[in-house]
Amino acid sequence: MSDSKKKSGISRRAVLKGAAVTGAAALVTPLSTTTAEAVPPPDKWDQSVDVVVVGTGYAGLSAAVEAKDAGANVLVIDKADIVGGNSVIASGGYNCADPERQKPQGIEDSPDLHFAQTMAGGDFRADPAKVRYYVDHALDGVKWLEKLGVVFEPKVYTIVGAIHPRSHDPVNHGRGGAIIAVLKKNVEERQVPVRLSCALSGIVRRNPLDGEVLGVQVKEGRGVKHIEAKRAVVLATGGFGADVPFRSKYAPQYDDKLPTTNVPWATGEALCYSQDVGADVVGMDYIQLLVACNYFTKKYGDIANLGVDHAVFLNLKGKRYVAEDARRDVLAGSTMAQPEKVFLWVADDRAAKRYTLDRIKVSLDKGLCFTAPTLEELAAILEGKLKVPPADFLASVKRYNELVASGKDSDFGKKDVNLKTLEKGPFWASPTQAGVHHTMGGLRTTPTTAQVLDRLGKIIPRLYAAGEVTGGVHGTNRLGGNATSDCIVFGRLAGQLAGKEPRRA
Ligand SMILES: Cc1cc2nc3c(=O)[nH]c(=O)nc-3n(C[C@H](O)[C@H](O)[C@H](O)COP(=O)(O)OP(=O)(O)OC[C@H]3O[C@@H](n4cnc5c(N)ncnc54)[C@H](O)[C@@H]3O)c2cc1C
Repeated sequence: MSDSKKKSGISRRAVLKGAAVTGAAALVTPLSTTTAEAVPPPDKWDQSVDVVVVGTGYAGLSAAVEAKDAGANVLVIDKADIVGGNSVIASGGYNCADPERQKPQGIEDSPDLHFAQTMAGGDFRADPAKVRYYVDHALDGVKWLEKLGVVFEPKVYTIVGAIHPRSHDPVNHGRGGAIIAVLKKNVEERQVPVRLSCALSGIVRRNPLDGEVLGVQVKEGRGVKHIEAKRAVVLATGGFGADVPFRSKYAPQYDDKLPTTNVPWATGEALCYSQDVGADVVGMDYIQLLVACNYFTKKYGDIANLGVDHAVFLNLKGKRYVAEDARRDVLAGSTMAQPEKVFLWVADDRAAKRYTLDRIKVSLDKGLCFTAPTLEELAAILEGKLKVPPADFLASVKRYNELVASGKDSDFGKKDVNLKTLEKGPFWASPTQAGVHHTMGGLRTTPTTAQVLDRLGKIIPRLYAAGEVTGGVHGTNRLGGNATSDCIVFGRLAGQLAGKEPRRA
């Protein structure tokens, strides 16, 4: 990775800062400025490798490691000038049934239950064969990551919207960044080159709608180059949550007024280039909002707590309006209907914390979220900052605690397992909004070989795809924690098979 080393700092802060001020932002290519057209085979290739992997998130780096281990000569490219895409800023929660961790915690689980919940959670719009492959290989993914050097917490929990306690958190700050750091190290150790600031600008197929994929066209600096892939191309270009024109094409309601949790370069042009060579897409209007953006900054994070058990969601009138452990689409939809589309995530000190105290402190110091030793003091702060009526605020918390004591949330139906009191200080409150988070739709791929299909259902030879650029795993609504494992499972699969394709002469 020598040519990328200087630019590839991957701390979360560096990424977020980078998103705002570096050349990475200039590389964002929203659909409106993209002229997508099929790329004919060049007279002469500028470079030739076995496998070209496009994207340096979970899926791309997993594919790169596996393709290299399968014996291929691999090149990874990314249009950004830093490694990691959305993966490096993500929370890194990884879902799978894992008896070694879950049994000691008294949690019943199995790939079958994970399958059933993923299908139901996505309103049965996912591809059952693909979900089956996913749940059956998700635990292997954790073990593989552990072998590569990722350390996961000994206990699992329920990340917001996950439905069941099977989310594995990587130890170390950064979470998703911790996984990317390990994958990046493994890519470096295998001497796989990673070319940053190198944007896919077309896929080269023998004929636009026919024959095998031969390589890619890229834009690098001011030049256009053609890179031959003698075995295969793996697309791992992520989702399009930050691409307002592209996402609004499928979901006009998600216009530029909505914030996003994504890095600015989560854009959809690779899907256009794929369609130019005949690729089919699925579920493009299944776009997930997540209640994880700060009301003041409109950015992901800057909220003190993501636990939903010892917590209530209150609107600016101090009223509860939803079961805090509902599906993500329910949480987002009901929040959008509240005054100013914002709620206060109010938690006691026992709610599962997903950020280090250091990070929370930065947000507290900036006045982006709040803490106080007693509920009364917190109510006074919220009245001052957001005009929340203190009496209503305190009455809602009291009512919630009474429901917990009764053993049933007869108001909103929070599940018994998550129905826990809010009474131990210090208390926390984060003004939180929904933002565009995940694009469940994307390339239609085969369930067990990660190959891209065309609109007639035929495999496009030598073209693989994995991660958020694909569709079919999550249906209408992704369960929290299912994307990390989706990316790792299918990234690995794509890399293994791409690396074993027969080498073209
Ligand atoms: C803030 C946040 C928190 C999250 N937390 C969780 C969580 O805890 N658990 C969970 O399951 N999911 C979570 N998710 C979702 C999950 O992290 C993502 O779905 C996942 O990271 C996507 O990985 P990927 O490899 O598919 O793409 P990415 O990590 O986004 O990587 C794609 C890469 O492709 C590059 N690229 C795109 N187009 C081109 C092009 N034309 N040419 C060259 N390169 C290109 C991009 O620059 C990018 O680096 C979170 C997402 C976000 C945004």
